[in-house]
Amino acid sequence: MAGLATVDSITNPDAMFENADITNIITEVTHVDTAKKIVELSDGASINYDKIILGTGASQVIPEFEGVDLEGVFTLRSVPDAERIKEFLEEKKAKNLVFIGTGFINLELAALLSENKPDYYNITVVKYKTLGPPLALMLDADMAITVQDCMVEKGINMKMESRATRILGQNGRVAGVELETGEKLDADMVMVSVGALPNLELAKDMNLELGTFGIKVNKYLETSNPDILAGGDCAEKIHFVTKKPAASLLRGPSVIQGRLAAKRLAGYDIEFPGILNNSAVRIFDKYIAATGLTDKQAQKEGFETISIVVISRSKHGMIPGVKPWTLKLVFDKNTQKLIGGQIISDSDAPVKEIDTVNALILGEKTISELTTLMCAGNPDCSSEPSLEPITIAAEQALQKLR
Ligand SMILES: Cc1cc2nc3c(=O)[nH]c(=O)nc-3n(C[C@H](O)[C@H](O)[C@H](O)COP(=O)(O)OP(=O)(O)OC[C@H]3O[C@@H](n4cnc5c(N)ncnc54)[C@H](O)[C@@H]3O)c2cc1C
Repeated sequence: MAGLATVDSITNPDAMFENADITNIITEVTHVDTAKKIVELSDGASINYDKIILGTGASQVIPEFEGVDLEGVFTLRSVPDAERIKEFLEEKKAKNLVFIGTGFINLELAALLSENKPDYYNITVVKYKTLGPPLALMLDADMAITVQDCMVEKGINMKMESRATRILGQNGRVAGVELETGEKLDADMVMVSVGALPNLELAKDMNLELGTFGIKVNKYLETSNPDILAGGDCAEKIHFVTKKPAASLLRGPSVIQGRLAAKRLAGYDIEFPGILNNSAVRIFDKYIAATGLTDKQAQKEGFETISIVVISRSKHGMIPGVKPWTLKLVFDKNTQKLIGGQIISDSDAPVKEIDTVNALILGEKTISELTTLMCAGNPDCSSEPSLEPITIAAEQALQKLR
């Protein structure tokens, strides 16, 4: 959409499937007869099956307010969506862009468009349901405010204390967005990104058991029908920390579940460990990542928490180009285990440290164990070992326990 990637660069060539002896049929599955074990396709064809792996993904949530069907109101899920938006921006020369929703998709998109045509767009981001700083699924408010400030500095109008209540139109085309305060924002285009829900039509058609967040599966991704496995956005996942079903619509778990389901069919018995929703995004100069529970989410789940924020640097202090980065770790005070982490960095390198935090949560490491974590140190590519923020956060948490 921002003109950075071509469609070819993000789609797998047909030859990839052909070379692996896989028949790739691009059409819609309209019905599955689980008694006769037949998959019916929209072109009238049908396929017999022994086993099914269901990966129907998710669809964007469309808010139930007035104006969502006006021309110039978009959601983004697929390549055709991106192409439609790009075409609209170019053809209509849209300048006033309003983004409803403050998750990573909208913020990333707003930042990319702004970077792509500096000083051209007038971009406003508004809240949908909850108020307060953006990226609430990834970051606590004390961390998210840095992202908000950065966006404001870059010229984005961040209306974080106002909810959108309706989209205004003129002659069938979008003209503005009204906020609950009564304020009206001019809009030539509106991007709505307020979450996604699993596509469950086929699962319902197959009478599969459903949970709160998608198709119910066991640790081997088997559904309530032993011949049908499910994975990715359409499958309900268990949160590794809370051990409860949780929403998870991310690529990491989808890719791993795809591989795991295939391995299950090949006879392996490797269990899916549960999700931590580790995710990352770049917004202007800020590289942001998170895993596990935020402090707020943990408290809502009933944990008594200790949370520590440490400011570190991307290289040793003496090296030119050193940039700051901030790590927040959340611990369960009761068990002293690490249960969440958040990173905001001015350099791309430290952001991947979220996967170290992720592995430490999966390893159920405690505060005292983390005080002895030894990380690779090099002046040009890491903070000084004495400033390694995971160990510093653990040291500070240890002091708080006394
Ligand atoms: C704009 C955007 C940006 C994102 N960025 C990130 C990111 O940076 N990091 C990250 O971790 N995640 C990201 N995600 C989420 C990530 O894309 C999804 O979690 C992931 O694609 C889910 O994979 P999946 O295979 O389960 O579903 P999908 O990739 O959605 O694939 C499901 C497929 O099933 C097809 N389908 C559905 N029903 C039928 C049917 N009846 N017959 C035939 N086909 C059917 C759909 O058309 C679709 O092609 C992003 C999502 C969006 C929308």
